[in-house]
Amino acid sequence: MDANVTEKVIALAKRRGFYWQAYEIYGGVGGFYTLGPLGTRLKDNIIRVWRKIFLEPYDFIEIESPTIAPYIVFEASGHVGSFKDAMAECLKCGNKYRADHLLEENGVKVSEATSLDVLEKLLNEKAVRCPDCSGTSWRVSSFLTMFQTNIGPYKENVGFLRPETAQGMFVEFRQLYEINRARMPFGVAQIGKAYRNEISPRQGLIRLREFSQMELELFFNPSDNKCPYLDDVKDIRMNILDEEKVRKGDTVPHDVNAREAVERGFVKEEWLAFMMALSQKFLCRLGIKPEFQRFKAKLEGERAHYSAQTFDHEVLTGKFGWIEVAGHAYRQDYDLKSHAIKSKSSMEVVEELDQPVKVRRRLAYVDPLKVKKDFGQASEIFKHISSLKPCELAELLDREGKIDVNDMVVGKEYFIFKEVEETVSTRKYIPHVIEPSFGIERIIHAVLEHAFHEKGDRVILSLNEEIAPYRYAVFPLVKRDGLDVKAKEIYSILKFRGFTVLYDDDGSIGRRYARADEIGVCKAITVDYQTLEDNTVTVRDRDSWLQKRIKIDEIEKN
Ligand code: AMP
Repeated sequence: MDANVTEKVIALAKRRGFYWQAYEIYGGVGGFYTLGPLGTRLKDNIIRVWRKIFLEPYDFIEIESPTIAPYIVFEASGHVGSFKDAMAECLKCGNKYRADHLLEENGVKVSEATSLDVLEKLLNEKAVRCPDCSGTSWRVSSFLTMFQTNIGPYKENVGFLRPETAQGMFVEFRQLYEINRARMPFGVAQIGKAYRNEISPRQGLIRLREFSQMELELFFNPSDNKCPYLDDVKDIRMNILDEEKVRKGDTVPHDVNAREAVERGFVKEEWLAFMMALSQKFLCRLGIKPEFQRFKAKLEGERAHYSAQTFDHEVLTGKFGWIEVAGHAYRQDYDLKSHAIKSKSSMEVVEELDQPVKVRRRLAYVDPLKVKKDFGQASEIFKHISSLKPCELAELLDREGKIDVNDMVVGKEYFIFKEVEETVSTRKYIPHVIEPSFGIERIIHAVLEHAFHEKGDRVILSLNEEIAPYRYAVFPLVKRDGLDVKAKEIYSILKFRGFTVLYDDDGSIGRRYARADEIGVCKAITVDYQTLEDNTVTVRDRDSWLQKRIKIDEIEKN
């Protein structure tokens, strides 16, 4: 990719109204962008294609949950503890940057797992210069990148703007599962805003503080984890850099389909490989060729706290190189389990078995004499323990080794464990989750770069019909002699039939073609004197510039 294409796209986006930095009259604020009229059309069209590919064929459902959540939600999800970036502070001017980005800009590659101490040492040892004041002394600390707010007029009621839409689906799991008539596996999607208080965003649409996500949570039974749709995507070949290749720094990807990716051990779950294949299909539909796409595994330590395996779906761009437009994560039962524990609500699914089966179960019972001896009457302990079933108690103790009741820590030694064999006709489990998560603004930028072409001094945005902001432009050759009346009539007919149509009668016809090409209008229809005689128009193709004379009634076939 030509590095200049990025700047050209950014300039075009601003000039023609796809997007630009927000609050410019006040000097602009990093990480906030406004989508203009063309950007919002493009965004809507991208969302429509996403729904067609990810939701409609599989009857997956969609919800819209609040963008603000109380503290406890993100405490349970682990974000309060983990959603942090390493922040480097210049000790001379006080400006702050992402430590890993600053090092990378200075030619020092570090992984996302590098500790704060090591980052600080590297910045100081390499005497990395502050981009603002050229200072070379640094302090590195961690910075929580969630936006914090208060819910209502109470300082103690802390809330967060969501950094991902996903938690809205996890906290509503029970309700969604029941609404979906208790069918498994099933998918729930959410499209909406997410907020991340990025430390110093300087990459246009790529790193925003407020952006839009399209996320899907696919809930499945981990012991019945076959994806029935793998053969439907057998023709989709993906470029995959698996963990081994990433570790070795090998950048030549495997060329595999979803089934091969699972069989050769690159991808752990069939549903994960399936979602990756759909992701590839989606970006191809948006006009990004397969050779400019790849899936790169994240190594342990670089992955989010909830993930057992993650692939970034990356697209090659000019100035920014490979950028991640989607993350595909195997979130296991991490989120549902965490919310079940914190909220004390069940997130379990109960499935009827075809035949009863024998299972061994571990049970835990409190030893009352021992508890009384060490904790006195301790009625709170007994009350708490009696709210749990013996099997839940055993699971909790095996997992955490203790139970906290107010300030008292009751260890495993206060319990008696038993193994029993039971016949059961149902199976209970907490579903596992595969999550594809897309950032819409990054996709908009990548799509524009890949649609951008120049022919001499003219710019063409070769956007696919499905996502182009306008399907047709209608031009009267001149604004008189009834040509404008006829052109407006054609414009209205096409709009009435549901097409997106632009009317333009300003300036020479050549300039109008150029303006339409630059924003990706697929076909330009020109009304001239012959139109008044025989009801024909010229239809000009944006990419080839070829013109055909056709009957007005045949426009839609062209
Ligand atoms: P993540 O949860 O970090 O994997 O993010 C999921 C997707 O959201 C990414 O693949 C990006 O497309 C998008 N995204 C994440 N952070 C940002 C950001 N700061 N600005 C714009 N898009 C973002």
